[in-house]
Amino acid sequence: MSKTQETILEIDVSALKHNFEFIKSKLHAKTKVLAVVKAFAYGTDATIVANYLEQLNVDYFAVAYTHEGVNLRNAGVKTPILVLHPQIVNFESIIDYNLEPNLYNARVLTAFIAFAQERKKVSYPIHIKFNTGLNRLGFWENDVDYIVEKLQKTTALQVVSLFSHLAASEDLNETNFTQDQITSFTKIARDFERNIGYKPILHQLNTSGILNYADQAQFDMVRVGIGLYGFANDMKITKQLKNVMALKSIVSQIHRIEPNESVGYNRAFKASGFMKTATIPIGHADGIHRALGNGKGYVTINGEKALIIGNVCMDMIMVNITNIDCEEGDEVIIFDHQKTVNDLAKNANTISYELLTAISQRVKRIVK
Ligand SMILES: *Cc1c(COP(=O)(O)O)cnc(C)c1O
Repeated sequence: MSKTQETILEIDVSALKHNFEFIKSKLHAKTKVLAVVKAFAYGTDATIVANYLEQLNVDYFAVAYTHEGVNLRNAGVKTPILVLHPQIVNFESIIDYNLEPNLYNARVLTAFIAFAQERKKVSYPIHIKFNTGLNRLGFWENDVDYIVEKLQKTTALQVVSLFSHLAASEDLNETNFTQDQITSFTKIARDFERNIGYKPILHQLNTSGILNYADQAQFDMVRVGIGLYGFANDMKITKQLKNVMALKSIVSQIHRIEPNESVGYNRAFKASGFMKTATIPIGHADGIHRALGNGKGYVTINGEKALIIGNVCMDMIMVNITNIDCEEGDEVIIFDHQKTVNDLAKNANTISYELLTAISQRVKRIVK
């Protein structure tokens, strides 16, 4: 690996492969795996990740928004892509790019039937989502008859899958609630299959769902997101996953500061003695939360922790290197391990999901 010369996000595809295989080892051999690659594959790079997982024969991809699916098709991805949260205005792109919409309520179902008929589609692949307790997106349990009646009046659509999403799959204090969600989805699926006369793919589990409920609710497919990128709900499992992302930068400039001088905007930091600071080319526009300013966040330089001092700027942070032996041009690690990601997320009052997906598109991605 050559020396870091600017801010980069390194993506370790061999770690991705390890995590994919780890998840598969928790499943029956015939269970399909859908890889969730929304939000630039959780802040990595959706094109790199999807192309790589396609070579590993992943069964499905999911994105949140239509244009994320369009980007994958433009990058040559051939695997089916479920769009989790489409809008009516996206239907043309969905069909043009052979994407598969989640139809989550009467409004989008009705509109998509009309649109597919107008485009003279036969058996166009769609997915139906049911709300079993998250109260976010999806039809209700008692909507089954309505949906089936609508679908039986047209040959334009074919239901490829039925799915639902757990609200607290990581929380073992909510096991009863989760069990109710599983029971409800099982009943919905049974009713639906009976009424429509064929068997769509069923799926309900996300990463923590796979880790906690693989026995009860594996169904035909699972949807894995954060696990692919190296994180699980508890540290014991996280340790068995491999770290995929490393965010690195360099020391641009070193300053020697005298007592009572301030550092950064609003003079938020004031030096109490002589000190040394390093300026790093990464800021809140790159995904370093402002909440990490003023000593909450840190970076690592030559193996030593350097606290962020003052406010996080748009394009820079300043860190305290008074007791660190380093020079301008030295490498800076923002994180290169799940533990650091979790640490920073905690200090910014957030979770790994948000910390990772916040790494902006301005940061150069490099495959390790
Ligand atoms: C984001 C998302 C997932 C992935 O969840 P992870 O916890 O990252 O595994 C699965 N299903 C749906 C509907 C999602 O929105």
